[in-house]
Amino acid sequence: MSIAPRAFAAFCVLLLCACADRAPVPPAQLLVFNANILTMDAAQPRAEAMAVRDGKVVALGTRAELEPLRGESTELRDMGGRTLIPGLIDAHAHPVWGAVKELFACQFAFESTPEQVQAAIAGCVKAQPGEQWIRGGHWTSDFFRNNRIPSPRRFLDEVSGDKAVVLQDDSGHNNWVNTRALELLGMGKDTPDPEGVTFEREADGMPNGVILEGFKVLDSVVPDYADAQYLAAARAAQDHALRRGIVAFKDASASEVEARAYQALDRSGDLHISVALALVLDDKAPFDLPTFTRLRDTYRSAHVDTRFVKLFLDGVPTASRTAAMLQPYTVDDQHPEHTRGSLHVQPADLDGYLTELDRAGFTVKIHAAGDWSVRVALDAIAAARKANGNSGLRHEIAHAGFVDPADLPRFEALSAVADFSPYIFAPSPIIDSVVGAVGERGRQYWPTRALLESSAPMLLGSDWPSAVPSMDPWAGLEALVTRRDPTGKHPGELWPEQAVDVMAALGIFTGQNAAALLLGSDLGGLSVGKRASFAVLDRDVTTVDPATLDATRVLQTWVDGVLRFADAPDSGAD
Ligand SMILES: [Zn+2]
Repeated sequence: MSIAPRAFAAFCVLLLCACADRAPVPPAQLLVFNANILTMDAAQPRAEAMAVRDGKVVALGTRAELEPLRGESTELRDMGGRTLIPGLIDAHAHPVWGAVKELFACQFAFESTPEQVQAAIAGCVKAQPGEQWIRGGHWTSDFFRNNRIPSPRRFLDEVSGDKAVVLQDDSGHNNWVNTRALELLGMGKDTPDPEGVTFEREADGMPNGVILEGFKVLDSVVPDYADAQYLAAARAAQDHALRRGIVAFKDASASEVEARAYQALDRSGDLHISVALALVLDDKAPFDLPTFTRLRDTYRSAHVDTRFVKLFLDGVPTASRTAAMLQPYTVDDQHPEHTRGSLHVQPADLDGYLTELDRAGFTVKIHAAGDWSVRVALDAIAAARKANGNSGLRHEIAHAGFVDPADLPRFEALSAVADFSPYIFAPSPIIDSVVGAVGERGRQYWPTRALLESSAPMLLGSDWPSAVPSMDPWAGLEALVTRRDPTGKHPGELWPEQAVDVMAALGIFTGQNAAALLLGSDLGGLSVGKRASFAVLDRDVTTVDPATLDATRVLQTWVDGVLRFADAPDSGAD
C-alpha cells in the first residue's frame, strides 16, 4: 500500500505532461514550493515542492515537475527556502490535565523557593474566597529536604487560612497537603495508611502532609473541575500542540471527563488534530474490561481514537522510592530500611489484564518506571502473546528508565514499545533526586541507543505537565541528541553513550509515534497518499548545532492541507 499510491501519482504527473490539454485532472488545492522538505520517507528523503489535494499529498518533486498540477484555484505558497517536516506527534502527554492546571490551578514553577511557594498559595487563597480547596503544583521531589522544611503541612498552614490545600509534585504521583486537607481526608495520627498509599509521618505518627501515590485517596474527596472547564482545557491543549508543530497526540491517561471534553470539542467542529486516548479508570478498579469497552465505544469520534488503555504498575524512583526496583533503594535518616518499591498490580493479575485487553483490541500503555516493574510488564506482554498469538498490537512500557540488560532484547522480541520522555534526559534536580534514591546506577538512565540498536520499537512524548513546563518537543529532541540540559542551567551529561542522532530522533517523533497512535499510514511522513500535515521551521534542524535545537521555532503548522497555526504575519501566499 505504501508504494502503490506513490507510483500511481508519478504516473499521473507523467500523464498530465503528455495529454494535459485533452484530459484535465483536478488541480491541486495547495502547491508548496521553494521549501527544504524533509519527508522522513527513505524512498524520497528530500523535495523542493509538494502538491496537496483533499488534504493529502498527491505529488512531491521540484516546482517544475509539479507545475502541471497547478490550476486556477490552486493556492501557491512560497516557503522562502524554509525547512518543512512532517507534523510532529507527542505520543505521551497529558494535555487536558496540563491545560486544566494552567487555566484553573494554583501555579508555581518547579524550582520555586519556599518563599515563592508560600506567596503563590497566599495569592490563590485570596483570589478564590468561595473555594474550599486550593489545588495546584508542582513541587520538586527534594523540596523539603533541600529547604529543611520539617513539617510540610504546617508550612502550608501558615498561608492557607481555612482552605484545604493539595499540591502535586513534578511526577504527578505524589501530593502535599495542609492540616485542613488531612482533616477532610479523615487522617490523624492513629489512622492507618489506606491500601497502596503512604502518608509520611511526623515523630508522633501525625501525617506530615506528604502523600505518596496520593490520588488513590484524593480523587474521591477533592472536587473535580466542571465539564466546561475541561472543554476549555481541551481547546487550549490543541492550541499548545499546534503552536509547536504537533498534529497529533496521545493522552497518556484519559479519564472519562477528559474523554468527554475531547469528544465535545470534536463534535463542535473545532478539533483538527488527531487525538488518541489511553483510557484510565478510577484507581479503586483500575481494570474492568466492560467499562473500558463502554468508554471506547462512547467517546470515539472523527478525530478521537479510544482504542488505548493505561495501567499503572508502579510509582517513581525519586525520593518517594515508589518505583519497583530489582535492587534496593539507598538508606538515609528518613528511609532507614532497604526497600525495593512495590507493584500496584500483582504479576499474575497483570498477565490476565494484558491478555484480555489484547484480545479485545486495546493497545495498552503500562506505567513501569523501575527495572522490576519493566520486567513484570514484559512478562505480561509475553503472556498475552502466548495466549493470543501476535495480535499485531504494540503494547507500551512507559518511562522504562531502568532496564536490566537481560530484558533489553525482549522489547524487540515482544514488539514492546519503549515509551520515553527525553525532555528530562539530562542533568537536573529530578536526576539528583533519582540518584539520591537509587544510588550511582541512577545515572544509567534511559538506554535509548541500546534499544534502538536492538531494533526495539520506541515512542517519544513530553509527559507534560509532569516534570516539564510545556509540550515543546524541541528541548526533548535536543536532550535526546546531546544528553545535556537544554536550558544550560545544569552542567554535565547524563549517560552520553546513549545519545542518538537528530534524524533518528526526528524519525521517532514522526514515523514511530504515528505508528503508536495507529496512524502510520496517514501521518509520520510526507509521501504520496499521506495526510498533508506538516510544520514549517525557522531552521534546518539537521544541520544546526545540536545545542541550539531547543530554540527551534515553528513558523506554521498545517493539518490536512489547512494552515492552522502561523507564528508571524503570514507573507507566504502569492
Ligand atoms: Zn505520563
